Amino acid sequence: TSAHFSETIRRDFPIIHDCIYLDSAAISLSPEPVVNAVVEFEHRYRSNVGRGIHRFTQIASQRYWHAHEKVARFIGGEEGTTVFTKNTTESINMVAHGLSWKPGDRVITTILEHHSNLLPWRALAEEGVELSVIGIRPDYSLDLKSLEEEIKKGARLAAITHASNAIGVVTPVKEIAKICRRYNTLLLIDAAQSIPHMPVNVGDIGCDFCCFSGHKMLAPTGTGVLWMREPIIEPMMLGGGMIEEVHRDGFVPIEGYQKYEAGTPNISGGIGLGVAVDYLNTIGMEQVRCYEEGLTTQLIKSLSQIEGVTVFAPTDSSYRIGVVSFSIKGLHPHEVAERLDHEYDILVRSGHHCCQPLMESLGLPNGTVRASLALYTTETEIDLLAAAVQEITRSL
Ligand code: PMP
Repeated sequence: TSAHFSETIRRDFPIIHDCIYLDSAAISLSPEPVVNAVVEFEHRYRSNVGRGIHRFTQIASQRYWHAHEKVARFIGGEEGTTVFTKNTTESINMVAHGLSWKPGDRVITTILEHHSNLLPWRALAEEGVELSVIGIRPDYSLDLKSLEEEIKKGARLAAITHASNAIGVVTPVKEIAKICRRYNTLLLIDAAQSIPHMPVNVGDIGCDFCCFSGHKMLAPTGTGVLWMREPIIEPMMLGGGMIEEVHRDGFVPIEGYQKYEAGTPNISGGIGLGVAVDYLNTIGMEQVRCYEEGLTTQLIKSLSQIEGVTVFAPTDSSYRIGVVSFSIKGLHPHEVAERLDHEYDILVRSGHHCCQPLMESLGLPNGTVRASLALYTTETEIDLLAAAVQEITRSL
């Protein structure tokens, strides 16, 4: 049952018992096995990776590179095709900087994007790259027709979110990939909000790049991933750890994906990311998806029934994740978030959620209040949020 589901899981998240945490879209909590893996690295074998032969570096290197394989398998990628980064933002910037652009190249993106999947593309304008931004329909779904029309005109790359961190809508990335293939357009998906909440298979989707953050999928902060079908980009950073040989007059980079990780990486974080993947695999992403879908429906339903509350969420439960934006008439979103925190111990996000163009296009210059859940959220917590919101609206 769903109560049993979260009860066993919640034991692994001690921080959860101090408050009601509904800000998992910003950063998820980490379960004990992940925290322990980081502590074990510090206590037992702290060392650098791939730069020596002593026993500590052997353990660290083996675990750090094994984590890459776990992540690759988790998203249906082939061995050796994942690069560890700092976060989604870095992964996207690496692609934007790593492709060589010509004047007249075009990039397609959407109004749903997080600033991190907009600004790196907008910056290419200086090299003569054009940017087209696709809009959404009243039900928040992407306008696929205009997407295809834009791609048909000729586009080098489409950079599209898989799930919105502001209004929770899921985009049909598989259909988008088919369109992209038809016109020879590369597809990058921003999977920061989908990977932690549903099964994602890059092979099945048919994208070329997949970017996401470890810290939103139970892993330590400072971890992110760039998956690439082929290592077709130039490395953004040069230095140690990415070369075969270096001479006075030149260098030969390592073949494959390791050339994208110059410098000492976040070793314990990467190992922790591998453990986070183990943790999610033990539960099963189908299970996670199913459990969270139920909670999301409950949350949308109870908030929608409250007078004075407007919910901004897709109606189709198979095209939304547990990110629910809403507003209370007469209150600034920040005031709502502050009252929820101070009076009810409920932690939510408020504002534009790094999606200011989207908020403006929806006529919400102050943004929204956003409750976002994860596998450790319970039905009781959803009920308590709804009750608190109801009380706040009555007090106005
Ligand atoms: N894209 C989406 C959809 C996100 O939700 C986020 C994080 N809010 C990002 C990109 C940026 O992620 P990070 O801050 O980890 O780089």
